Amino acid sequence: MAELFPVSSKLFARAQKVIPGGVNSPVRAFRNVGMEPFYTQSADGCRLRTPDGNEFIDYVLTWGPAIFGHNDAEIRAAVHAAVDRGLGFGTNAPDEVRMAELLASVVPAVEKVRMTNSGTEATMSALRLARGFTRRDKIVKFAGGYHGHVDALLVKAGSGAMTFGRPDSLGVTAGTAADTFVLPYNDVGAAEALFAARGNEIAAVIVEPFLGNIGFIMPVPGFLEKLRELTKNAGALLIFDEVMTGFRVSLQGTMGVHGVRPDLVCLGKIIGGGLPVGAFGGRADIMDSVAPLGGVYQAGTFCGHPVALAAGIAAVEKLLREKDVYARLSAFGEALAGELERAARERGVALQVPRCGGMFSLFFSEKPVRDLEDATRSDPEKAKKLFRFALENGVFLPPSPYESCFISTAHDEAALEKTARVLCDGIRAL
Ligand SMILES: *Cc1c(COP(=O)(O)O)cnc(C)c1O
Repeated sequence: MAELFPVSSKLFARAQKVIPGGVNSPVRAFRNVGMEPFYTQSADGCRLRTPDGNEFIDYVLTWGPAIFGHNDAEIRAAVHAAVDRGLGFGTNAPDEVRMAELLASVVPAVEKVRMTNSGTEATMSALRLARGFTRRDKIVKFAGGYHGHVDALLVKAGSGAMTFGRPDSLGVTAGTAADTFVLPYNDVGAAEALFAARGNEIAAVIVEPFLGNIGFIMPVPGFLEKLRELTKNAGALLIFDEVMTGFRVSLQGTMGVHGVRPDLVCLGKIIGGGLPVGAFGGRADIMDSVAPLGGVYQAGTFCGHPVALAAGIAAVEKLLREKDVYARLSAFGEALAGELERAARERGVALQVPRCGGMFSLFFSEKPVRDLEDATRSDPEKAKKLFRFALENGVFLPPSPYESCFISTAHDEAALEKTARVLCDGIRAL
């Protein structure tokens, strides 16, 4: 892509000499679409600008957090004000109380909550807490579910790991992997069978209630309800990983869409307002097992960092104030998906566009996608072709056939019109 990205291409050449693979997180290498990556110089609203002079309508949105688009003026002002008060204190700061109160008041199932620096730290801590609380070792996850790069959870872990053809990471010990049971998502029978055989060893089931890291996949009716029932009866905890879906598919995350309530919830992404943040929370009696009250250790020099929390609080408060956010995101998603489905039908291309709130994904598949196996049976070559066509025409889709797309409130009529035109042309050119 040197013709499209002459400056980026030079940066990437330099990067590869001093950064492994040239990137600080693997998907940014664009290997899953067989291209060299571009660099971003600045970003505003729904648009990214590269040092090469390109401008893209962005559907990656920093992998979900930028729900108001890039560089939102209110969040930026809150960050400036926080920076003026200091860059971090190492003591308690008032915003930590505010953030915890906000999360407890909005997110169902959260009575008490701890802040971390990333989603990975949140899921890692929630697992340790579940094991410490139940005094059991085994955990259950679902194939295609991604919960950050936690050792025990890097088994069949969705897009980043999977599209490299290495479902498990080197360096994860056999002992760690042996404590993790992996089930197919949306398979009630498999979950029942595992609990019948091993239920009394299981500390927790961790699940993305809507899968977002293998494309976007919603649960079949009764699936989450069954997980709730099985864990409850076995004395195991149910952990919802809503790092991606929290504040994105609705104000209450997936819990605004279904009625199931977990014991613990992991959050991240949007609640950092663009800065690095995570959180885990849930039932007070479980959360009180964390140090200093209980024996489960969890800590962090930067946990509850005042600048990150200022950004996060500004984002969450803005979501609370602007009541029509999710209706607007859904309307955008519906309109776009409708046009793409029509173009695909006319061209005889099999396309599924699952969607909810500010998330959707594109599967080139005959049938609705229900699990990891269905997702991998969809056609990655068509997805790669469409990615490239979109990029050449000013639209940035996730650089992998197995990632969700994100919509922000900054995606306006002009963005919709252009995106629909480009992607429909792209589908016709497949
Ligand atoms: C992004 C993500 C994580 C990891 O969060 P990081 O901040 O990248 O560590 C965990 N779980 C889910 C569902 C995610 O989408």
